[in-house]
Amino acid sequence: MSKRDYYEILGVSKGAAADEIKKAYRKVAMQYHPDRNPGDKAAEEKFKEAAEAYEVLSDTDKKAQYDRYGHAGVSGNGRGGFSGGAGMNMDDIFSQFGDIFGEDLFGSFFGGGQRRGGGQRSRGVRGSNLRVKIRLTYEEIANGVTKNIKVKKYVGCNTCGGSGAKDKGSVQTCSTCGGSGQVRKVQNTFLGQMQTVTTCPACNGEGTTVTAKCASCKGEGRVYAEETVSIDIPAGVQEGMQMNVTGRGNAGERGGMPGDLIVLIEEEPHKELHREGLNVAYELHLSFTDAVFGTQIEVPTIDGRAKIKIPPGTQSGKIFRLKGKGFPAVNAYQKGDQLIQVNIWTPQHLSAEEKALLEKLGNSPNFKPHPEKGGKNFFDKIKEMFS
Ligand SMILES: [Zn+2]
Ligand SMILES: [Zn+2]
Repeated sequence: MSKRDYYEILGVSKGAAADEIKKAYRKVAMQYHPDRNPGDKAAEEKFKEAAEAYEVLSDTDKKAQYDRYGHAGVSGNGRGGFSGGAGMNMDDIFSQFGDIFGEDLFGSFFGGGQRRGGGQRSRGVRGSNLRVKIRLTYEEIANGVTKNIKVKKYVGCNTCGGSGAKDKGSVQTCSTCGGSGQVRKVQNTFLGQMQTVTTCPACNGEGTTVTAKCASCKGEGRVYAEETVSIDIPAGVQEGMQMNVTGRGNAGERGGMPGDLIVLIEEEPHKELHREGLNVAYELHLSFTDAVFGTQIEVPTIDGRAKIKIPPGTQSGKIFRLKGKGFPAVNAYQKGDQLIQVNIWTPQHLSAEEKALLEKLGNSPNFKPHPEKGGKNFFDKIKEMFS
């Protein structure tokens, strides 16, 4: 199923300011809120869709990625999509509300940030996100790569299965909330009495308490360890890009949802090549005689070496273009080029014999510069090189 445009979902234009986006989301969220549309699956879908749109458009980084790459730029499908977005659960959505609805009446009416989706108990405490940097060579970026990296992080405790309890008998139903994980409070407001539901403070919404703790994890349900995580990196990524690997961050406490692993891409500088967006630039130093007589020469590319033909009479500053030898775009069938700029090497030390030869040649009319009329000037070439 194709996804709808985030701007369309919220009914705002692409140039909408943060404030406008927030207002639009508030409106859509209220319209489709589950409390107002009980049992209406279509409304729930619309509600989730809006939350996802807002999650992306309210985040400067994610919004920029979405504007640039569309849904592919922000889909968190667990295989290294960029940033979160898809797959939000109700808890995530309601936790947005603290920000959106503030402490106003609607906040408490809807349960604000305290609400747990569908009135269900939550397990444990969600683990935090983890950030790692991955350094990639130009070759790896050109082809895409699977990286296995060792990450030090919290992982679920094997002894207790993440519960944090010594054994089954030491898990007890919370006496404060009777196991529901929620407590109800009746409040008087100017609209009359209102019932609010908040997370049980005694058990933190878990509905159970642990009377004897697991010895391995001291009741946390997780232990600090090293884990190897395999990350699929698509071809064409760039320095500074972030990838979100869902659920591979720190394990949660007592069986809580794990956080995400956020991978920051770094580029290893290349010895000979220089990246400019999708294009790759290479500076070729040619001897004077090779430039005069022409030659075949091997140049490095991001995908091995390539042979190029230098025609006789090649001028310094000439740019050769190897079509399609640049980087692929991350989410488009598009490839950059390699641009090779010629630099003619001027000898800096000469023997007496060489000096005599060159002095003789220097007076020959063929050695006087006479640039082509109508040829592209230096500034046009520079423009062309990075276009
Ligand atoms: Zn344990
Ligand atoms: Zn409780």
